[in-house]
Amino acid sequence: MMTQDQTRRRFLLATGTLAAAELGFDAHAQELPPTPACHDGDEPTVRQTEGPFFKPRSPERSDLIESGSRGATVELTGLVLTRRCQPLAGALIDLWQADDKGDYDNSGFRFRGHQFTDANGRYRFRTIKPARYTGRARHFHVKVQPSGGRILTTQLYFPGEAGNRRDPLFRSELLMNVAQAGNGEAARFDFVLDIR
Ligand code: FE
Repeated sequence: MMTQDQTRRRFLLATGTLAAAELGFDAHAQELPPTPACHDGDEPTVRQTEGPFFKPRSPERSDLIESGSRGATVELTGLVLTRRCQPLAGALIDLWQADDKGDYDNSGFRFRGHQFTDANGRYRFRTIKPARYTGRARHFHVKVQPSGGRILTTQLYFPGEAGNRRDPLFRSELLMNVAQAGNGEAARFDFVLDIR
């Protein structure tokens, strides 16, 4: 005859909640994407195609929300790191994205901007959640360049999007860590450049 504890254990195994409980996090936390973490000798951030909508010479700014902008606010923050997890100051980050209708501004610079990481390797953008467009999951485009170094071109994705599975470009390594923050979302992604 099973003890009460064994019964409970068997029940938990059947419902799949025991593993989460034993690992010390709750079922909600388990649904969140893994927190980007840097380990010594970490693999550099995966490169992705630039796509057809990059424009050089975007304005230097961290706030891409202009008067009349629509769409949920996203505060995107993170670090630019070397493969030894050292923060890189003065690295360029250029971000471009679709608007709330899935369109890119190809005549001006709406939802385009660049900035440089601070002394602690941090960057921060305030923008909107881009809409999906035909054939693509929701994403940001970015270029990251250390001072005088090679450009990393890639794209960042939102967790929990049905469109991710249908987008052949999607890579789970490029998922941001996203949490609700007020009326919008706080997104986090740390870039690891191929620098020792
Ligand atoms: Fe795109």
